[in-house]
Amino acid sequence: MGYEDVLEQIDHKEGKRKKFEKHNTPKDRDNAKSDKECRRCGRTGRGVISKYGLNYCRQCFREIAEKLGFEQLS
Ligand SMILES: [Zn+2]
Repeated sequence: MGYEDVLEQIDHKEGKRKKFEKHNTPKDRDNAKSDKECRRCGRTGRGVISKYGLNYCRQCFREIAEKLGFEQLS
């Protein structure tokens, strides 16, 4: 059951709803995992490099790194 579902069920119960909202409202996170998405292949989550505004996953970064001017060190 998701947040929206619960809210709908207790919508008419003022007190409960207030309490629920206070403790369960999803926070707006700047760095939430799901916000990261590779702009090349759409991969999300871990491994997506958002540093320097790249927004590429590791796999894509490897492939495009050279074109972007990164030099392979090994
Ligand atoms: Zn990718």
